[in-house]
Amino acid sequence: MNKTPVIVWFRRDLRLSDHPALTAACDAGRPVVPVYIHDDQVAGLGAAQKLRLELALDVFGKALADKDSRLILRKGPALDVLRDLIRETGAGAVYWSRLYDTPAKDRDTKVKAALKEDGIEAKSFAGHLLFEPWTVETKTGGFYKVYTPMWKAVRGNDVGDALPRPGKIAAPDKWPASDDLDDWHLRRAMHRGADILATHCTVGEDAANTRLGQFIAHKVADYVTNRDLPGVKGTSNLSENLTFGEISPRVCWHAGKAALEDGKGDAEVFLKELVWREFAYHLAHHTPRILTDNWKADWNAFPWNTKLTPEVQAWQRGRTGIRFVDAAMREMYVTGTMHNRGRMIVASYLTKHLMTHWKIGLDWFADCLIDWDPASNAMGWQWSAGSGPDATPYFRVFNPVTQLDKFDKDRAYVKRWLAEEYKNPSDTALSYFDMIPRSWGLSPGDAYPDSIVTTDEGRTRALDAYSNRGF
Ligand code: FAD
Repeated sequence: MNKTPVIVWFRRDLRLSDHPALTAACDAGRPVVPVYIHDDQVAGLGAAQKLRLELALDVFGKALADKDSRLILRKGPALDVLRDLIRETGAGAVYWSRLYDTPAKDRDTKVKAALKEDGIEAKSFAGHLLFEPWTVETKTGGFYKVYTPMWKAVRGNDVGDALPRPGKIAAPDKWPASDDLDDWHLRRAMHRGADILATHCTVGEDAANTRLGQFIAHKVADYVTNRDLPGVKGTSNLSENLTFGEISPRVCWHAGKAALEDGKGDAEVFLKELVWREFAYHLAHHTPRILTDNWKADWNAFPWNTKLTPEVQAWQRGRTGIRFVDAAMREMYVTGTMHNRGRMIVASYLTKHLMTHWKIGLDWFADCLIDWDPASNAMGWQWSAGSGPDATPYFRVFNPVTQLDKFDKDRAYVKRWLAEEYKNPSDTALSYFDMIPRSWGLSPGDAYPDSIVTTDEGRTRALDAYSNRGF
């Protein structure tokens, strides 16, 4: 029987349960060497993601230690690191969970081919999605470019049972050396905001499972109404855990299904949201241009602003004078997440009222979000801008003022995030000023700004630009 160690290369799958690659390694009865590699893709992550990653690795390392195992940390190009580890441990195999965005796929394909050439068993597994992109097809054999038919096609599919945590993770005879997590300085890019952002993170597999349990017990029954109200904490907030793989989509799916069977009808909409995540990954897999270019090529002719103008800076800093936009931008800066309605409003405002390229927004989100996800972020931006598949039509320009009256009637959300207009601002609103760079020169005592573009002006300008281009 083969007793050489198996390296399990962790990436966006920092969990022990429902982890097919880890389970396969443990079931083989071979010693397991868990490793996380800080390569150029990790180096390219945004500031908030890096901090969140540091917290995730710390907690995951402890979860492995509880199983008498270890998380080995190494820095460098993935293939070099894996070859070093194979040499040091005598490993005969490397297992990992598949990712579906182009940079990750390109790297993994090269790694797999090179390891196989070295005579090493290199094997990838499912785990990051409910349905892998090549397993769902339209009747004519293509992939879905529109969400609703995809939902109808997959809603009854069997996703399989979630796998339990492995009982035992066998250790190698001798552990290879590991970097010290602190030496990676992953929180450095957050500067003085790091400690505050960390208080808004809910980290690790146990915390994610508790979060899911509480959502199903207390929130899912009213999800349809409350998910649209940013002042109410009515959604699962699982996106930060799903993006780091601290919980599997399959575990979330089964919990949603069970709630539905229990008579909580709103759970179906939660399942639908999980399928939006799948849809984003299917698009990223089949049409990788969605991550970098207008999905609909006719949008290449649109006269987007591509500069960091004072208006764009005001958008980034939550100083547009439009309360819904400013509250949402500050929520993201402080917590690393933003309510979905906020994301739709700020993205519509940037791309339509400010006629600014969605890529500027995409990059800012990538720097600020702890739940940044390559596929969902790109799909969300292209959906909002109108350039994506199944996107909001160009003439649908959200009015952020009437949206506020509709979804934040009592101004709970605005009060939570805007300090300037209140005698006694909330702690969360004040904390924004403790995080932002001092060079922005903002203080809670400033007057709240007039709107940089009125909602009517912005709408008219955008619609004129669309019709001049023949949209
Ligand atoms: P819930 O309402 O509890 O939904 C459960 C899960 O379903 C989420 O955790 C998420 O994984 C998935 N989901 C829900 N809505 C969507 C959606 N519209 N698209 C894809 N998946 C969805 N989501 C990210 O995870 N990362 C991103 O970087 C991201 N960027 C976005 C950018 C823009 C411009 C827009 C409009 C949306 C973006 N979204 C992104 C989607 C959505 O806003 C978040 O997934 C959601 O707000 C997360 O909150 P939640 O976990 O409480 O979601």
